[in-house]
Amino acid sequence: MCRHLGWLGAPVPVSALVLDPPSGLLVQSYSPRRQKHGTINADGWGVGFFDGGVRRWRSDKPLWGDASFASVAPALRSDCFVAAVRSATVGMPIEPSASAPFSDGTWLLSHNGIVDRAVLPASATAESTVDSAVLAAHIFERGMGALGDTVARVGTRDPGARLNILAANGSSLLATTWGDTLFSLHRDDGIVLASEPYDDDPSWRDIPDRHLVEVTGTNLTLTPLEGPS
Ligand code: GLN
Repeated sequence: MCRHLGWLGAPVPVSALVLDPPSGLLVQSYSPRRQKHGTINADGWGVGFFDGGVRRWRSDKPLWGDASFASVAPALRSDCFVAAVRSATVGMPIEPSASAPFSDGTWLLSHNGIVDRAVLPASATAESTVDSAVLAAHIFERGMGALGDTVARVGTRDPGARLNILAANGSSLLATTWGDTLFSLHRDDGIVLASEPYDDDPSWRDIPDRHLVEVTGTNLTLTPLEGPS
C-alpha cells in the first residue's frame, strides 16, 4: 500500500529526502522495494510541513508527473515534515483530499494500510470518505496521546486492518507499526522514519511490528502495542 516518510531534524529541502534519494518516495511511487500490498503508488501524493503553521501540498496524480513540485521542492526547507505516495485501496475515492497527510491543524498524519470504516465512528471532520481520512479523524478526536491505544483498539475491532500511522507536529514524530514495514535512520542532522529505506545505508533499522514509535530531538523510543495475535 502506500509509502510514507517523516523527518525531524535540521532544516533540509523536502526534495533532499523525497525526490533525490536513489530509492526515495519518488522512486517508490513506481518501484517500491519492500511493498507487501500493491505494486505502484500512482493514486496521489502529499507533503506537509511546518513553518509556524501547517502547510500541505496534496495531489491525486502520480508524483513522478509533477514537474512543478519537482521545481519548487528544493526551496521548501523544513525541520519537520511528512510525505506520502498513495496506492488507493479498491473502492476508495481518488481525490487530493484522500491523499495523506491529513491534518487537524496541529498534526500531520499519514496512514499506510486499510481499515473497515464500519468499525470507526462516523466523523463530521474527516477530510474525505477514504478509510484513512476517517481513521485520521478518529485518531485526532481521541487525541495523539492515545495513538497507541487507538490503533490497538481499532486493530482489535478489525482483525484484518493494517494500521501503520506516521504523524508529526513540528517538534516530534509519532508512528505505529501494525501490519506493514517501517524503518528508522539516525543521521547526523536528524531522524528519518520511512516505510522503506530510501538508500542502501546499513544504518537503517527495521522497526518490529505492533509498536509505537516516538521521536523527539535525537531520541527514538519503541513501545510494544497490545492487541489480538
Ligand atoms: N486505504 C488507504 C487508501 O485507500 C491507504 C492505502 C495504502 O496504504 N496504500 O488510500
